[in-house]
Amino acid sequence: MKTLEPFNPENFLILIVDDIRKNLQLLIEILDTSGYGTTFAVSGKQALERVEVTEPDLILLDLMMPEMNGIEVCKRLKNNPKTKQIPIIFLTAATETNYLVSAFEAGAVDYVTKPFKTPELLVRVKTHLDLKKTKDDLIQAYEEMQRIATTDELTGIPNRRSIFSIGKQEFERSQRYNSPFSILMIDIDKFKSINDTHGHDIGDEALKMMVKVILNCLRKVDYIGRLETEEEALAKKGHLGRLGGEEFVVILPHTDLKGAYKAAQRVCDAMPTETLQVKDETVSITVSIGVATYDPKDNKIDDILKRADLALFGAKKNGRNRVALMHDEQLKISQ
Ligand code: GH3
Ligand code: MG
Ligand code: MG
Repeated sequence: MKTLEPFNPENFLILIVDDIRKNLQLLIEILDTSGYGTTFAVSGKQALERVEVTEPDLILLDLMMPEMNGIEVCKRLKNNPKTKQIPIIFLTAATETNYLVSAFEAGAVDYVTKPFKTPELLVRVKTHLDLKKTKDDLIQAYEEMQRIATTDELTGIPNRRSIFSIGKQEFERSQRYNSPFSILMIDIDKFKSINDTHGHDIGDEALKMMVKVILNCLRKVDYIGRLETEEEALAKKGHLGRLGGEEFVVILPHTDLKGAYKAAQRVCDAMPTETLQVKDETVSITVSIGVATYDPKDNKIDDILKRADLALFGAKKNGRNRVALMHDEQLKISQ
């Protein structure tokens, strides 16, 4: 994880907004001298345009300006998800302090009274840049931790915890709306012998190859006889996760048993067509897949997983490299 860097003014760009050029020049000079990057605008309207283009780290905003005043500019920036994180410090004349409450209500973090004292201005600027940076670093660290906690390191797909949580959500959705969803339980055939023959590293490569093949198959959404909206297609897209070892699970939202069976067959057929080259040997793998679907009698996701697991066991028992359902479900799709 990234370590926190010391504060360096050169890393920051400050937008200064004032309709009086003399004020602008003075502020630019002070901030430039301290090492900050600066950019400026002479009106509220121009300020909004500059923010879009330059993405500043902080804004010094004059409160009173003709046409669009600082409070209006501030409100607009705070209403825009792209710009609302930028700290805004107001520049106010001593006679304008009665507007300060409105300025804070509009989202300002601080203010400086004109004529300002340079050291005070610089301290306030540094404090708010520092705060903003610490907040950004924390958010980034949190997101990185979230990613690590939910991702399988080797393959980059959701890990056990994460795929279970996706499965639970799908289960609840199916319960609520009585809509179908299905699960594929996928296990590599005789994977131990790949490790034994070629080594663990090649085994790892084979796992990655397997993930690639499955994801490719899932992208090909079944054509159901009419054009689907992008949302429908996305909703149907499966989620692949690693349960552990060489066992994977696919959650197929809005997919009934027949559809899931077809998707599983596609994965099973595609798997041996992808190969790994190890010296002068070509390594390919096959998989066995157990398919199960949501039944309104189910109480929890584990009930479906258990059936998919039993179906997988059947696929292994009947010779591997195949897709299997539990016996009574087999009857359902052959009707
Ligand atoms: P079956 O067809 O019955 O599934 O046989 P199998 O050999 O695939 O099954 P078994 O459960 O006996 O062995 C699974 C093997 O998967 C054992 C273990 O070495 C290997 N394995 C599990 N996780 C990893 C991994 O992250 N990397 C590698 N390279 N191998 C792994
Ligand atoms: Mg296996
Ligand atoms: Mg196994």
